[in-house]
Amino acid sequence: VSTTPHSSAIILSSGDEIITGQLLDTNTQWLAERLVALGIMPREHISIPDDLTALVSTLRRACDSAPLVIITGGLGPTDGDLTRQALAQLLSEPLITDEASAAAIRSMLEKRARPITDRQLRQAQRPTTATSLPNQVGTAPGLHAQVPPTRHSALGTQHSAHSEIFALPGPPGELRPMFEREVLPRLRPPADRILVARLLYVIGLAEADCVDRLGDLTRRDRNPLIGITASGGILTIRIRYEGPGPREAALDAVDRAEGRIRDALGAHLLAIRDADSGLSALARCTIDSLAARKPARTLAVVESCTGGMLGEMITAIPGSSSVFRGGFITYANALKEELGVDPAALQKHGAVSTEVATQMALRGLARAQADHCLAITGIAGPDGGTPEKPVGTVHIALATAHTNPARPTVIAKRFLFTGDRHDIRQRAATSALTMLHFHHHAPPATQPRLLWETTNLHPHK
Ligand code: ATP
Ligand code: MG
Repeated sequence: VSTTPHSSAIILSSGDEIITGQLLDTNTQWLAERLVALGIMPREHISIPDDLTALVSTLRRACDSAPLVIITGGLGPTDGDLTRQALAQLLSEPLITDEASAAAIRSMLEKRARPITDRQLRQAQRPTTATSLPNQVGTAPGLHAQVPPTRHSALGTQHSAHSEIFALPGPPGELRPMFEREVLPRLRPPADRILVARLLYVIGLAEADCVDRLGDLTRRDRNPLIGITASGGILTIRIRYEGPGPREAALDAVDRAEGRIRDALGAHLLAIRDADSGLSALARCTIDSLAARKPARTLAVVESCTGGMLGEMITAIPGSSSVFRGGFITYANALKEELGVDPAALQKHGAVSTEVATQMALRGLARAQADHCLAITGIAGPDGGTPEKPVGTVHIALATAHTNPARPTVIAKRFLFTGDRHDIRQRAATSALTMLHFHHHAPPATQPRLLWETTNLHPHK
């Protein structure tokens, strides 16, 4: 049995659905993030169809180039599920029935009152020297096998010890718990090479401006290495240290890099790190800063072109009920009027205007009895644009109540978003949250011009 460290890994995903683009391979992404977090660097991601020859040769090649191989999918009962057979061929071993797995499959099927068939029991098979990994959630067990190095590999074997393969089920709800329970305890991250990764999120800045502000921090020869990616108006900064230990020194280096990034980006950098996505980090930060006030501040929304997206972004965060009052989807003008928007303002300026956005925010604030109200009205397209108000024009207003409830204040901004209908709507909702963030985190004099904001470029009349 191999005891060499898992200095690198190859992740394979199998399935015709993935190859044909019917299914997005999220397992590989999840596994890669988990491995990096554990200090094991993925070397390659490979996707292969449900084809026995391809599976065997790809597994062979993967084992010849990395000490750890994780393959997902193809463990189920259908004829397209070939991972067990591929592993048996790779090891030149027959498939035998693993009695404990067979018993577990029988008991799970009985509990679900489903027939016990040969096809179902085939999932209990394993190559003779492989270990079955129990599946707490579904029927198909995983597999763990030691693969000896190829003796006369045409590729030239890159390491001479055994490689380890873990075969995990395709459904993410089965794969993830099996990874944590069965794979994690068997992993051996290299002790002499530490990997520390951290994700930070940046709002209200274009990618190029962010790179400018960070200066030589983003040089490719630095360790920690700092990378930036943009998605939906939020930037993700990845800090990755890879080098000698001890771990404390690596963490120190990452902390120092984060400190310099924070100095360079100020309020553009969110306080939350390592979130599921930039959007969830932004929503969580917004909720946290409302909840942190004494007393906590409440929020309401009034949405037109986003049709509830902003409310969805907020309520997707657990605990949002402590600050979120709810809102109004006022898509038709008649409903905007019912909320209390002045028909004359709609008539004079149109539904997509600073005036109407402002009134929506003020009426929402009063009706919901909230401390803040965000209102969004715009043209998401593809039709409905005019020369003065092209597709992508969106007005967002933030109304804030003060000690004198008769005198709320309003900040209104105009944006011109690019992209298709979905992009425009998503960017509008994200920008609304961004406005609220800067309202709390940047003094009025230093409020930045946000991405896509056009408020003062062409003053609205
Ligand atoms: P099952 O017992 O459900 O057949 P399996 O191990 O045989 O599991 P597959 O048949 O390859 O796995 O895939 C089953 C389902 O799991 C797919 O239809 C898909 O919903 C999900 N799935 C498989 N691979 C992936 C992947 N790489 N990323 C995300 N989801 C996946
Ligand atoms: Mg299957």
